[in-house]
Amino acid sequence: MERDAAAKPLVMVVEDESALLTMLRYNLEKEGYRVCEAGDGEEALTILAERNPDLVVLDWMLPTMSGIEVCRQIRRKMRTRDLPVLMLTARGEESDKVRGLNTGADDYLTKPFTLPELLARIRALLRRARPTQAKGLLNYGDIVMDLAAHRVTRAGRQVHLGPTEFRLLRFFMQHPGSVFSREELLNAVWGPDIYVEPRTVDVHIRRLRKALNAATEADLIRTVRAAGYSLDAESAPA
Ligand code: CA
Repeated sequence: MERDAAAKPLVMVVEDESALLTMLRYNLEKEGYRVCEAGDGEEALTILAERNPDLVVLDWMLPTMSGIEVCRQIRRKMRTRDLPVLMLTARGEESDKVRGLNTGADDYLTKPFTLPELLARIRALLRRARPTQAKGLLNYGDIVMDLAAHRVTRAGRQVHLGPTEFRLLRFFMQHPGSVFSREELLNAVWGPDIYVEPRTVDVHIRRLRKALNAATEADLIRTVRAAGYSLDAESAPA
């Protein structure tokens, strides 16, 4: 829920030259971005599994795993599929540029570049990405909800939900950690004018749990006695 929690966009910089990394962090923070950094591709993928950057500045030439490979992996995962990637490289050859863009980079900047140039590209990419974000990807724990495609995955596995379960989960994911009574859920998910037995909520919660939780996965929906339900990973047994 990082994206909702803070208005400042989070930029991940993947770069093995520490002097350049320091310079980029300093200037991006000065511009009002939050910054997280990775020194190689594997670290980048680890961080991506834990955080939700709004954009990645990705160096092409990295030790062990190339920027191209990192980009490929970013595009392969549902959760990061639409994440804007700005590729940095020392190579200026047209064929490499084409290769980079084919791999899924959204833009491309050849080293050495000027700072205003970099900042302009970042701003442009974030602007372009905003419509996608408005349509929305919701993340909670290992659950990803793609509102546009009406698709839900948990730990990369496709979760099939009925329309009511989908709306129920969406509401929970928009308010993670909050407890809602059956009446509140009826109002929010079914609508205030629809008359349904409060017990109906239990039925749909049961279906949602069944669809969401594979055998070994923690139950992320918490039943709060006499109060209602919440989406809450903290209380789930690991
Ligand atoms: Ca490098």
